Amino acid sequence: MLDQVFRPCVIGGLTVPHRIVMGAMHLNLEALDDGGAALAAFYTERVRGGAGLIVTGGSAVAPAGSGGPGYGVLDDEKHRSALRLAARAVHEAGGLIALQLFHAGRYALPGAPGAVGAAPLAPSAVYSRFSRTVPRTMTEEQITGTVAAFARGAERARELGFDAVEVMGSEGYLINQFTAPLTNRRDDAWGGDAGRRRRFPVEVLRAVRAAAGPGFPVLFRMSGADLVDDGTPWEETSALAVELAGAGADALAVGVGWHESPVPTVQAQVPAGTWAVYAERVKRALRAAGHGAVPVIASNRFNRLAQAEQALAGGDVDLVAMARPFLADPAIVDKSRRGASASVDLCIACNEACIDRSFGTERVSCLVNPRAGHEREFPARSSPARRGRYAVIGAGLAGLEAARTLAGLGHEVEVYEAADEPGGQFRLAARVPGKADFAATVRQREQELDRLGVPVYLGHRIGVRDVPALRAMDGVVLATGVRPHRPDLPGVDLPHVLDYARAFADPAALGPCVAVIGGGGIAVDLAHLLTGDSSPGPTPEEFLASRAMTAPPGAVPVSRTTAAPAGGSRQLTVMRRGGRIGAGIGPSTRWVVMEELRARGVRLLTDVTYEEITQGGVVVVDKGGERRLVAADHVVLATGQESRREVAAVLRRAEIPFESAGGAADARSLNAVRATAQGLRAAHRI
Ligand code: SF4
Repeated sequence: MLDQVFRPCVIGGLTVPHRIVMGAMHLNLEALDDGGAALAAFYTERVRGGAGLIVTGGSAVAPAGSGGPGYGVLDDEKHRSALRLAARAVHEAGGLIALQLFHAGRYALPGAPGAVGAAPLAPSAVYSRFSRTVPRTMTEEQITGTVAAFARGAERARELGFDAVEVMGSEGYLINQFTAPLTNRRDDAWGGDAGRRRRFPVEVLRAVRAAAGPGFPVLFRMSGADLVDDGTPWEETSALAVELAGAGADALAVGVGWHESPVPTVQAQVPAGTWAVYAERVKRALRAAGHGAVPVIASNRFNRLAQAEQALAGGDVDLVAMARPFLADPAIVDKSRRGASASVDLCIACNEACIDRSFGTERVSCLVNPRAGHEREFPARSSPARRGRYAVIGAGLAGLEAARTLAGLGHEVEVYEAADEPGGQFRLAARVPGKADFAATVRQREQELDRLGVPVYLGHRIGVRDVPALRAMDGVVLATGVRPHRPDLPGVDLPHVLDYARAFADPAALGPCVAVIGGGGIAVDLAHLLTGDSSPGPTPEEFLASRAMTAPPGAVPVSRTTAAPAGGSRQLTVMRRGGRIGAGIGPSTRWVVMEELRARGVRLLTDVTYEEITQGGVVVVDKGGERRLVAADHVVLATGQESRREVAAVLRRAEIPFESAGGAADARSLNAVRATAQGLRAAHRI
């Protein structure tokens, strides 16, 4: 039951049809040279899937406020045209759209239009680990000019046809930099005490409110907890909420964390719904000050509408903003409304195709939905002139993506998988503590293929006998995946040596002392599996407690401490020849998983040469030339993968053309994002 979710809500006179807001996401579509076509298509598809109110990714109110090269700047006529098109498209599809007014401050990345040749602007010259720069201290003139730029942004939003604006004042961007003692070291009218630190956000809100005019909703996204040392203390946060409401904010959206926070906020390790508590605190502060009618929007780390329902049912949150779940499934709202939640493509919080890309220039997309950001290139449906029959060989992620795409396009599809279960290597990852949602992706695909009438023949290894049937097809997608690579190393055939696939399949069979050869993403996942336990993971309360964050409103202490290792009795060493352990893991996630491994006492060795595997473990030579034994009862090989080529050989001999996807195409640096994207492309190319 989603009774709370599916109730309308009024924000500053604007009636939004339900309680889910599609939160702001920077997509790297904003500054494309396509007149806004890709951006409009992206938003339109979400409206068609039930999104009510959409908040755009941040549009910089001035060139210096641009977050990076892929950001749009409101002074740029080309960007404004793109926004105009996007707003019109959303309205034509029946949706509502708010423009997010943004200034990155010291988080402006190199390459941002306004940062060329000059350091970013900030309240004070405090080095940022995120942008790796020392910003310039803003002059009085620059501050008042920026307030005016926010106001001009609101006027432009109206002119461009938007329904509302959201002022970006959280996540460590410029406005938030003014409220935090860490980054506001001024002693003038804009800093020096709590009241003066709040002046900038309040002046921005007042200016935006005035420029927006009556009846044009102004949302303000504020930080509920900065989660950095010397961040905005709680009493200043609650005072800011009250002042913003008093100054005319029509809704307060509450974000948490900065890009420099030592506390993870949106990674898979964070339990869903953890951060609603900060929005609830804001709501209670507003109520106590007589502003209880101002809607409060919770955000960060919700991936199911049922979680939003729970937060709303508590009564201290009015709406829930979800962003990444709309990348993963544009129809999350409609499917959930129809009671078909199991058919929702869940966001698995991997961040690999979204947040990690948003820091660069590559188009943001989604691991589980590679069409995201490419809606025009790969239409969901088409009317094929001729309905074809296709075979997909392999039911890993790439094959499943190809099969559901072909079937969605109206073709007849059959899937053949040699294993007894679909999912391929992705199924291994689903066993890792904190990655239980990965299994939901495979289940969703099975269900979708079933609904589309696609038979999946499990345990069917394609061979010469299948050639006549394959010849009769209109096309074949080869997605037979990979097998673990076996290095040429003395001792590799000893009985206590096994590959990573076997270790994933039966971790309990491994002894108390294990050495993993190889340090890529699979090795890191395996290390978590071997040192974790099978419990479902912490509750939000346990997670916050593990970070010393259970204190009632007051200064929010920040700690790097993670929960005590649950399955920490096993001694584990992960070793790699060169480079960092887990180097291929995206920057928004790697630090979290590595921190956990260190907390569990996992030994990490890099820059070693493997000499041989013996009964006692692995003999390695370190950079200094020292030879030593890494003791182990079992040695696991996580030394990469190689493509399975047997079926390709059968097809070639029979002269049956095929398209390859995933590991069958290229096993080097294979990852799930690439696999699904290749599955999609293969289905459209064939
Ligand atoms: Fe979610 Fe991963 Fe998709 Fe990003 S890439 S939206 S985190 S599933």
